Amino acid sequence: MANKITEFLFKDVTNANESNRVSFIVRINSLMMCVYFLIWITVFGITERYINAGICFGLMCVYAISVYLTYRDKNSAALLIYCAITTVWMFRFVVQWGWECGIQHYVFILLVLVFVASYKSFREKMLSSLIVFSIRMFLYTWHITYPPVEELSRPISVTFQIINIVSIFFSLIVILSIFTRDKLATEAKLARYNSQLKAVAEHDHLTGLLNRRSGMAETVDKIMNGSFNYGMSIAMADIDHFKKINDTYGHDAGDEVLKKLAGCFTEFMKPYGIAVRWGGEEFLFVFDDMNLDDAFVALDGLRLKIATLEIPWKDQRIPVTMTFGVTDINVMKSASDTDLDIENRIMDAITDADKKLYMGKESGRNKVVI
Ligand code: GH3
Ligand code: MG
Ligand code: MG
Repeated sequence: MANKITEFLFKDVTNANESNRVSFIVRINSLMMCVYFLIWITVFGITERYINAGICFGLMCVYAISVYLTYRDKNSAALLIYCAITTVWMFRFVVQWGWECGIQHYVFILLVLVFVASYKSFREKMLSSLIVFSIRMFLYTWHITYPPVEELSRPISVTFQIINIVSIFFSLIVILSIFTRDKLATEAKLARYNSQLKAVAEHDHLTGLLNRRSGMAETVDKIMNGSFNYGMSIAMADIDHFKKINDTYGHDAGDEVLKKLAGCFTEFMKPYGIAVRWGGEEFLFVFDDMNLDDAFVALDGLRLKIATLEIPWKDQRIPVTMTFGVTDINVMKSASDTDLDIENRIMDAITDADKKLYMGKESGRNKVVI
């Protein structure tokens, strides 16, 4: 039971931009206000002040909406509702029963919330503080200008005061304890989102292969930091007559071919290096520490495998072939080499591999040209 309540209160509304602390603070405070108004409804019910009981019921419902909004990832709206309704209640209270019951101390909760439960800029927070300050001054001015509508007897005044003091203290304790809770959870969440963002930025969304930018960066890194006994080979590859595959089976079938081939490339390149989606239906293969002849043999094996694959699509099978141009990169480094020098060297090798790929296309496709 206790676990269920904790789970309900601290249900995380996943949002990369905000820590869940904000939704917890607003949610639990709004819930506490619901309880607070339940107490008032009971008190007013017992003392037969039915209009006040009705007003409190209305306010309680609005706080319930604020609780609901925190589960919908609308924390700013929930906070705004909380502040607005609390202000309305303070006005109502001061006008009706005056200053003696301590309702005005709720402004301090509003002030704390402005700072701990929102991600507004410092200027906006200062502006909000000014509004809270004005509310407090207005309440005080009202109090010294007009007498309360209803004079409370001593025992009732004390009861009202106690309800307000307890509620305000609880709210502040909840806000501050959640705010100072272990920061690790928030940091872990940020780290998780960062790694997800990184993965999205580095990979092609259709095939899951490295994209051109991260493929290039990784290759530069390998050359800059690696040591090579056999050098490094790269290949550019292109699916043969891919346009025809799209035209014959449809664009979705073309996508399926790209995905299936990408899975095949990833598996194939595991012992050798990386496969990169270079563009549309073109791929780059980088063979770490492998000479040109060995890369040729490995790629010819891959070419054969693809040619016998026949990718299943609905109730059909799509035959696919690919053409490869393979070359090697000069991996000799000097101390003055920058990342840009290495990148240029890789681009030269890619241009060379591209030429060979073109030759392969010209001379009949489905081959590896060295
Ligand atoms: P070649 O053998 O000379 O390479 O002929 P090709 O038809 O493969 O080459 P071409 O450049 O004429 O056509 C490439 C086609 O690849 C055109 C384009 O619509 C398609 N294509 C590029 N990216 C995607 C993709 O992400 N999904 C699908 N389904 N098609 C794509
Ligand atoms: Mg092409
Ligand atoms: Mg093609």
